[in-house]
Amino acid sequence: MTKDEYLENNPIKICPVCKSLLVDEDMKIYCRNCDFKINKKVLDVTLTPKDINNLLTSGKTRIIRFLADSDKIDAALKIEKGKVVMDFGKE
Ligand SMILES: [Zn+2]
Repeated sequence: MTKDEYLENNPIKICPVCKSLLVDEDMKIYCRNCDFKINKKVLDVTLTPKDINNLLTSGKTRIIRFLADSDKIDAALKIEKGKVVMDFGKE
């Protein structure tokens, strides 16, 4: 993997709330300076590096299909008031 490819898959992550550098661990990304965190696994879905990058840079992901019990949920994730929440596209 080249350095550019590495950076594309592992971009520097900045907290959208306080602009600190985020700590990237196996299952979560969190901020040491405030309460912001992203769980990399939401229900049954593991977020891709691209999803996380989109969330941090544009505040929203693609529509993702989640399974909750036997229900299917189609929702994007977005950041609202410093928290990651589901966005069902109904404002
Ligand atoms: Zn922060």
